[in-house]
Parts: sequence; structure tokens; C-alpha cells
Amino acid sequence: MEGALRAIRTVKASRAEARESERVISEATESARQSVRAIRYESVAWTVAGFGIGLATLLILGLGAWRVSENLLTVSALVAFLLYAFQLMEPVGTLTQTVSGLQSGVAAAMRIREVDAFEIEPSDTDRPSRTTTEGRSTLTFENVTARYAPGAAPALQDVSLTIPREGHTAIVGPSGAGKTTMFSLLLRFLNPDSGRLVLDEIPLPEWSLEDLRRRIGYVEQDTPLVPGTLRENLLYTHADAGEPALWEALRAVRLEDRVRELPDGLDTVLSTAAISGGERQRIALARALVSDPEILLLDEATAQLDGLTEAAVHEVIARVARTGAVLTIAHRLSTVIDADQIVVLESGQVRARGTHQELLQTDDLYRDLVAALRIATQV
Ligand code: ADP
Repeated sequence: MEGALRAIRTVKASRAEARESERVISEATESARQSVRAIRYESVAWTVAGFGIGLATLLILGLGAWRVSENLLTVSALVAFLLYAFQLMEPVGTLTQTVSGLQSGVAAAMRIREVDAFEIEPSDTDRPSRTTTEGRSTLTFENVTARYAPGAAPALQDVSLTIPREGHTAIVGPSGAGKTTMFSLLLRFLNPDSGRLVLDEIPLPEWSLEDLRRRIGYVEQDTPLVPGTLRENLLYTHADAGEPALWEALRAVRLEDRVRELPDGLDTVLSTAAISGGERQRIALARALVSDPEILLLDEATAQLDGLTEAAVHEVIARVARTGAVLTIAHRLSTVIDADQIVVLESGQVRARGTHQELLQTDDLYRDLVAALRIATQV
């Protein structure tokens, strides 16, 4: 459950809410069964231990009584010995029980609070599906203002933007500028306060969540893998993909040879395998590629990744951008420079738009951001 919640954006974007709920419930049932078994064992253990303690007491009493009858021990000394022994036993037992009880209580309360904060149910599954319209239509933001809570400061304010249905659009801007909010709006994790988003000439709310999210490949920044095997991860968004599609996606992210070398291949359990940060990113990319997405949302990892991963990210962007729209939250200079269109966001507003060369000449903030990325790249 923790794994699913950490990757909650991937779960929702993959329309896997029902699958995840089912998995969690079946594991919870199994856990309940095991708990009952554990309690049964515990009761047996306590009974045996209680019997042992009783037996030991009897032995001490027997031995003590014999020593008293032989005048080797006074009755009062025997009674005092027994009382001290009993008095020590109880507080030590209570202390260990209380400490372990307290620890598991605190941990459980924290998890429950985390679960409370997320909404895992699909929001509108029975809305009728709309089919794709033909033609080279675009994805547009029309005067979009969005807030995370009523009355809160807007995370995006009056944003109007056209994203071509082919090519690579990079979003740059300081932290808190609203980049992630744009992705959340596209995936409908969040609805705009005013204005609208339109995909293929149909406003976003008229798409069913299922159809909308099916068309979008989404790669989260930090926690892109879900618990399970490599195959389960690759099939996560499109469960009906065939094995050749999986290998093709792995080839595209330069992981094919690495996976073929693993003893269990696609059935390797990821938590047990030694997988680097870069490889995790590439697996997440491969998952988005399995279905040939029309729109790829890529939140680029900020961590320093290896050269192979960086090259793989580039190839994937170029490949998807030939036939679809790639939208990146770019954290690497090389990603920004290659983009067909760069959008500079600042404080929830679009500050400038253009190519790398145009923006270098016209926008101060862009120049600063590029300088910062250049330094980060050199480190
Ligand atoms: P960026 O991705 O550019 O760093 P974000 O889109 O995450 O920026 O954030 C834009 C603004 O929205 C920020 O002021 C941020 O504090 C706020 N914000 C982002 N996510 C949430 C959230 N889940 N709840 C409340 N406010 C949020």
C-alpha cells in the first residue's frame, strides 16, 4: 500500500486504482489470516510459559519447604525471596509490552493519516467514452487559473498556451512556478478554477478519465516504480501489451541487454534486484513507451543520472516527438536546448515562449535559469 501511495500519480494516470485496491485488499486479508495464526501461537506460548512459571514456583516452594524442615532456611526468608521474585517479574513484563505497543501504535497512526490524505477511487468511471477526432488538433490551455484550495493563492493564473500535437515542448521556471500543476491539470488530478483545457477540440471534462489517461504517458520524477516484477511494472499502464512491445520499449531505453542478463529476466522482482537510480528512471520511461503514447508527460529527474540514462531520455523524447506531443518539466540543459518550444513559467504565469536562441536574447529569467542549469551540468 505504501508503494502504491508513493506512486499515486502513476497509479491514477495508469487507471490502476481498482487493480491496486484489489491487491491491497487481498494482501490485507492474507495479513489478517496471518495475524489470527500469530495470536493462536501466542496463546499457546503464553499457556506453556504460564505452566512453566507455575511449575518453577512449585519447585522453589518444594525445595524451600524441604530446606525449612531441615532448619537450613527460615520461613520468613523463603517468603521474602518469593515476594521479591514476583515483584520483579511483573514490571519488566509490563514495560516491554508497553514500549512495543506504543511503537506499533504510532507507526499505524501515521500510515492511516497518509491513507486519509489520498483519494484512490476513480472519480467518474461511468462517463461515456469519446473517440479520438481526426486531424492535427492541439492541446490548449485557455485562460486557465488553478488553485489547490478555495481561497488559496492561485498556482496557475490566466495561463493560455498551445501545445502542438507533434514535437517537444519544455517547461522551465523556478521552483513553485506551477510546472507540476500544469501536468496535474492535464491528467485531471486537479480541475481549473476558471478557464479550460482542450484536447482535440474537446474540453477536458468531456473526456472520460479512462480515455484521457489512456492517451497520456506519464513519467513521475521521483518514485516511478511500483512494487512487483519488472514485467508487472512495464504492463502497469497497459496491461494488455504483448511481450514484443515490452522488449521494444526496453530496447528504446537501452535496457534490453541488461534485462536479458538478469537470471529471471522480465520476472525479476525489482525490490530484490540491484537496480540503479538511472535504471529505475529508464524502466519508468519504458513503461510509458509500451503503449506508444500520443502525449508524453515527462517530469525529468533532478538527480545526477548516468550518461546512458540521459542519452536514453533524449532518444525517447525525440522518438515520441516525431508522432506525438512531448511535454517535459526540464531539469537538464540538454533537454531544454533540444526542445522545439520552450515555455518559461514564473509565479503561475507564462512569462515567455520561444526557442532557446530566441529566449536567450529576449528573456532575463531564462538566461538566469540556463546559467544555473549550466553550472548544475558541469558539477
Ligand atoms: P513547480 O512544479 O514549478 O515547482 P508547482 O506546480 O508544484 O510548482 O507549485 C505551484 C504552486 O502551487 C506553489 O506555490 C505550491 O506551493 C503550490 N502547490 C503545489 N502543490 C500543492 C498541493 N498539493 N497543495 C497545495 N499547494 C500546492
